[in-house]
Amino acid sequence: MASTDRIAQTLTRHSLRQTPVRRAVLQILADAQFALSGSDIERLLPPDTDRITLYRTLKSFEESGLVHRVIDATDVIRYAACSIECSAHAHFDNHVHFKCTNCQHIYCLNQVAIPPVTLPDKFEAKSRDYLLAGLCRECQPA
Ligand SMILES: [Zn+2]
Ligand SMILES: [Zn+2]
Repeated sequence: MASTDRIAQTLTRHSLRQTPVRRAVLQILADAQFALSGSDIERLLPPDTDRITLYRTLKSFEESGLVHRVIDATDVIRYAACSIECSAHAHFDNHVHFKCTNCQHIYCLNQVAIPPVTLPDKFEAKSRDYLLAGLCRECQPA
């Protein structure tokens, strides 16, 4: 199946109307090897794309469980495409993120689950972020 069809299907599955900006943003995030900030995405879109439309698109993707936020100690918000199992109803960041201290990219390690954590009595977690730092695959010395 061509990847453009997959983009269309993903939008349909999340009950989102197909618009050129939505399709382009989703394609960019689906192709990305690491999480992208709003301005990273903006640079990859056609130059006439409206910024407000872009940020509205990211917000609706986030609400629908298509993308999730990736945060680190800086205040830059980055976005990554969610894995296929993710939905608006079951949207809980369940995987580890990895920040490379050399190239500064943050990778979604979808295949690495956050280990279970036992909380003290009367503590209830609503979200979780698990960020490891180190050297990524690309930056390992040969
Ligand atoms: Zn790196
Ligand atoms: Zn992630």
